[in-house]
Amino acid sequence: MPLELDTPLTYVKGVGPHRAAMLQTKGLETIEDLIQYFPFRYEDRSNLKPIAKLAPGEMATVIAEVKAAKVSSFKRKGLGLFEAEFTDASKAVLLAKWFRSAYLADKLLPGTRVALYGKIEFDNYRGELQMMHPETELLSGDDDEGEASLHTGRIVPVYEAAQKVNTRVIRSLMFRVLQQMPRLTDRLPEELRHRLKFPDRTAAIRAIHFPDNETPVRIWNDFRSQAQFRLIFEEFFWLECGLEIKRKKGKMVPGISFQLNDKVRDSIKKLLPFKPTGAQKRVLKEIAEDMASPSPMNRLLQGDVGSGKTIVAAEAAVIALENGYQAAFLAPTEILATQHFLGLRPLFRKLGYEPALLTGSNTAREKLQIKEMLRNGMIHIAIGTHALIEKDVEFANLGLVVIDEQHRFGVMQRFELLQKGVSPDVLVMTATPIPRTLALTLFGDLDASVIDEMPPGRKKIQTKHYTADQVELAYSEIQREVEKGRQAYVVYPVIEESETTAMKAAQQQYEHLSKEVFPNIPIGLLHGRLGANEKEAAMDAFKQGRTRILVSTTVIEVGVDVPNATVMVIEQAERFGLSQLHQLRGRVGRGAEQSHCMLITEKLNDTGKERIRTLVDSQDGFYIAEMDLKLRGPGEFFGTKQSGLPSLQIANILRDPDILEAARHEAKAFVERPPSQEAYAAAVEYIRGHWQRRYGLVQVG
Ligand code: ADP
Ligand code: MG
Repeated sequence: MPLELDTPLTYVKGVGPHRAAMLQTKGLETIEDLIQYFPFRYEDRSNLKPIAKLAPGEMATVIAEVKAAKVSSFKRKGLGLFEAEFTDASKAVLLAKWFRSAYLADKLLPGTRVALYGKIEFDNYRGELQMMHPETELLSGDDDEGEASLHTGRIVPVYEAAQKVNTRVIRSLMFRVLQQMPRLTDRLPEELRHRLKFPDRTAAIRAIHFPDNETPVRIWNDFRSQAQFRLIFEEFFWLECGLEIKRKKGKMVPGISFQLNDKVRDSIKKLLPFKPTGAQKRVLKEIAEDMASPSPMNRLLQGDVGSGKTIVAAEAAVIALENGYQAAFLAPTEILATQHFLGLRPLFRKLGYEPALLTGSNTAREKLQIKEMLRNGMIHIAIGTHALIEKDVEFANLGLVVIDEQHRFGVMQRFELLQKGVSPDVLVMTATPIPRTLALTLFGDLDASVIDEMPPGRKKIQTKHYTADQVELAYSEIQREVEKGRQAYVVYPVIEESETTAMKAAQQQYEHLSKEVFPNIPIGLLHGRLGANEKEAAMDAFKQGRTRILVSTTVIEVGVDVPNATVMVIEQAERFGLSQLHQLRGRVGRGAEQSHCMLITEKLNDTGKERIRTLVDSQDGFYIAEMDLKLRGPGEFFGTKQSGLPSLQIANILRDPDILEAARHEAKAFVERPPSQEAYAAAVEYIRGHWQRRYGLVQVG
């Protein structure tokens, strides 16, 4: 029976309800899901040799039986060494050893047939051939004899297991499915496929699961075989096409054409509390030109922490207000919204405009009142959190939406505010220095401006690393700075689920510091569990210098601005992501004084050391983000929290920036000059059906 793409996997021989449930944990439900479940690694088992023919130094695959096995226990815990002797028809013996692998004793019982893959070495002491930590695969299984050749004697794909459904079972299922699979419709535009000499989709899918032996395994593992290249290209191509189409549609919608006359310019000048930097002037010009044009602005404003994005957004707001429109300023946290509100209110009032703060902790009555005033236009600029996105918030005539710290919001939320005005202009700001390749993918539908210059007089923040037993050194530095009239932060990590634990740690430390270490210094405490009023009070006291040290959880991570603070102590720094540490550090160094950041760590592995070193050595947010991506791997970097981007199937932005660039180029050309109306319509249709939900391309088509 031929299988259809939407046939449930339970129709495949060998998949019962039990396995189906386990496959489902990886999102594998249909034939289509399975054939797009790609191997993450390949092994060359084509060099299959009898043990008697093995030579030291070579990489080889051996099929053999366990003759004897034992676990030798070491004094040091966890160092159980598992040793097994293997033999095959050639009667020779091969030894294999695995450190820290006592659990293997349950699997490699005498008599078990396995495939071993690894480097052959010579054990001088015993005079036998051995493999250290070979890859192993149990061969006695429930599959047909005829399929044994799937797993040996060739380049073999390795899949991530779906619970107990291991790579071997997946490989067998894949084989069965591919044998019965119908030809797949190839959606890539034909002209493109020919010009780039791509294999067709069906061939590419077959090859990626069962590679030919002509292409060396190294190329498969680099994901640069023709089949892989095509599939990676394809994934990027549709993603970029979606973004391109959205961008094109966005430009066609009639937007507001803001006037830029002398009166507007004067108001901007009047607003500014300081002389803008060259970079600030340049990006304001880019923004102003966009606002003056008749199509809606969709602009990303990037700038490292402390580069001065807020005031640029305020200038843009003045353009909207002077033209008789309202502006909305969306911030990710209440603390940040409040700070923006308190900072910007006097500036806007000076120009005769009334801002309002709308957050989750306004009372019901306040909310009603603010909403009423937004609806009738009495309030000109609304600053707030998610509360601003709620359905019943309506504006008289919203002209500009500013979204601060965009990475904190999902892709979807960007669109909800947009529904509130008739195509308002949008300015999205981020201090997460997104590597260029990522920016292209995440914000491919936006134009970009970059503030690449710090306000004048800033000094480089001195960053030091202390281990937990050197924490006194950090304290004496705090003491010194506070005596000079400066202020300090002491921050504790919050790990997602455990704000409560972090709060407790912060609270304890607050008591320790105020009673024992700094009994004569007023200290404040700030954490996410405080009510809005308490948070505001704690922030206010610190801002005005009534408290000199602020003990806090990471609620202060984004945007908090107290230029007199010159010390940042981060406890358990190993628990933070690099970019997050960079953000935290950016809370100091905002004035003309020399600032200090001290990273305190408890346990550090090698990667941990390298991460800390990166921060001590560099203050370049872009470089740090690249390192973060490298050290953590894209998997984690792309955790939805960081990026708002759903995971890609085969493409990997870190590994494949060249293919992304090529796909982007082709996607752009395709959308600008489609080969035919039909081809274009088919592409839109396909993206809408297959890719829209996945990538949050909400407005395509
Ligand atoms: P971020 O880009 O991280 O949001 P902010 O907008 O909070 O940075 O600005 C950081 C600090 O620098 C603020 O205290 C702000 O008032 C100050 N600042 C911004 N631009 C200038 C400038 N041109 N000259 C002097 N100080 C500036
Ligand atoms: Mg900011």
